[in-house]
Amino acid sequence: MKTLRLILGDQLNSKHSWYREVNPEVHYLMAEMRQETDYVRHHIQKVVGFFTSMRNFAKSLKELGHQVHYLKITDDDNPHELDKIIKRLIDQHYIEKFEYQLPDEYRLDRQLREICKSLNISTVSVDTEHFYTSREELGEFFRGKKQLLMESFYRMMRKKHNIMMVGTEPEGGKWNFDQSNRKKWSGSPEIPRELSFDKDVSSLLSEIEQAQIDTFGSIDAKKYAWPTNRNECLELLDFFCMVLLPHFGDYQDAFHTDERFLFHSRLSFAMNTKMLSPSEVIDTVLEHYYNNTEEIDISQVEGFIRQILGWREYMRGLYWKEMPEYAQLNKLENKNPLPEFFWTGNTKMNCLKHSITQSLEEAYAHHIQRLMIIGNFALLTQTDPDEVDAWYLGVYIDAIEWVEITNTRGMSQFADGGIIATKPYVSSANYINKMGNYCKECSYKASKKTGDDACPFNALYWNFLEEKRKHFENNRRMSMMMNLLDKKNPEELNALRQRAQEIIANPDKF
Ligand SMILES: Cc1cc2nc3c(=O)[nH]c(=O)nc-3n(C[C@H](O)[C@H](O)[C@H](O)COP(=O)(O)OP(=O)(O)OC[C@H]3O[C@@H](n4cnc5c(N)ncnc54)[C@H](O)[C@@H]3O)c2cc1C
Ligand code: SF4
Repeated sequence: MKTLRLILGDQLNSKHSWYREVNPEVHYLMAEMRQETDYVRHHIQKVVGFFTSMRNFAKSLKELGHQVHYLKITDDDNPHELDKIIKRLIDQHYIEKFEYQLPDEYRLDRQLREICKSLNISTVSVDTEHFYTSREELGEFFRGKKQLLMESFYRMMRKKHNIMMVGTEPEGGKWNFDQSNRKKWSGSPEIPRELSFDKDVSSLLSEIEQAQIDTFGSIDAKKYAWPTNRNECLELLDFFCMVLLPHFGDYQDAFHTDERFLFHSRLSFAMNTKMLSPSEVIDTVLEHYYNNTEEIDISQVEGFIRQILGWREYMRGLYWKEMPEYAQLNKLENKNPLPEFFWTGNTKMNCLKHSITQSLEEAYAHHIQRLMIIGNFALLTQTDPDEVDAWYLGVYIDAIEWVEITNTRGMSQFADGGIIATKPYVSSANYINKMGNYCKECSYKASKKTGDDACPFNALYWNFLEEKRKHFENNRRMSMMMNLLDKKNPEELNALRQRAQEIIANPDKF
């Protein structure tokens, strides 16, 4: 039967059962489309990363003998809309059946369902064969439960997939080594230079410019860093195991002015495009660990496995459980606009200057920069979660809505009222000062709460607790902070509030 199979830009799974045999009756379709470049303003490195990886994937399928129809962004006959592209190919090639892999984004899922309804041939959707869990598994696991704790989901996953288990007990006698994973990095151990693929992407960049796609951020087109084919992804995974894994857990929560990546793997783009599967990442890391147990402590490995087997699958499950309502949630009723410096990095606040400039230059920031610097400031200044989401969805190379919105709107902005995080991830300068060296070189003083040179995070923090008090009154995890707030004398509180209001009214001045 003549079949058309759609491959989306984040479905570059070369191990998918679709490709097990070459069948001349099967046509594959891949397309660079305006509908995908324009639904949010993306970082230029993100557009380049997706298009290059898609082109490489199409090429490798063709080399295996598969029939691939590939539409480039500048092709004159590219309609740029999925339904038009699909319908045209069906007519042109007398297609009798349409197949697609289940998309990971709600937007595309809905669109494909609509397209299928409008086709007068049979249609089939299949799994992407990428995740450990199905879309529904998390919902089923938590059915009837009030709290959707990541920790219980993670333990279930460890047991179910027999990962780091000794019988029914966790290897090393503990499920969680988080307590030992909170070191500040102060120059040692030495961090080797990141693995960068330094490719020349100038000609694709010209095509993107010619198509007049509105992007932001910078790119060195002669030295494009990100992996864009499977071999490069495997190389990056190997580099992580050999070089970074021995210290991953220790410095997971650290930041430093001289080190943009620390011991982070930078594997999220490779995984989110499905060039690498989470199970092969975990299996490779575990194999490396078991072969090197004398050099690598279990805490480093567990910290990493937790991120992928726990957080990544948990966020995906929550996305499908809570969408589409989730995308509208704004439980803290935050309405302020995003500061202009999010687009330029132009601020005197050193932590934000470093984290945002790095995001604009690399299309990457590590988790703690995203959560405890940038997200923390956006939440403390009570920024509209729609604007925060749009920024995060655009700026990071790995940003796809299922994992971006759950992390941003949920974990970072507490806009879901506590579905994901049991308390908001906010902090004053104390935490930032403890975990890195940003404060040392800052125009502001981390220890001061009021006055022109006081760190803005301090006043914002107490003001946030005070203004959002009604939302936290019944939250036991917030009770200590709320008690401290209640102990502040009215004069001090007033001064903090006044300074916070000045910052919120004009964050770009600070
Ligand atoms: C506000 C905010 C927005 C985020 N947006 C995204 C996003 O758009 N896309 C994205 O992939 N991740 C996102 N994250 C999660 C996390 O920050 C990134 O996955 C991580 O920084 C990617 O870098 P890495 O590959 O070096 O990760 P590492 O630190 O090396 O971690 C290894 C892997 O674990 C997984 N992982 C770690 N933390 C999370 C998490 N919280 N949720 C899901 N997976 C996780 C990732 O696949 C990552 O590659 C966001 C976090 C925050 C706080
Ligand atoms: S003093 Fe405040 S603004 Fe400056 S780096 Fe530290 S936390 Fe950031």
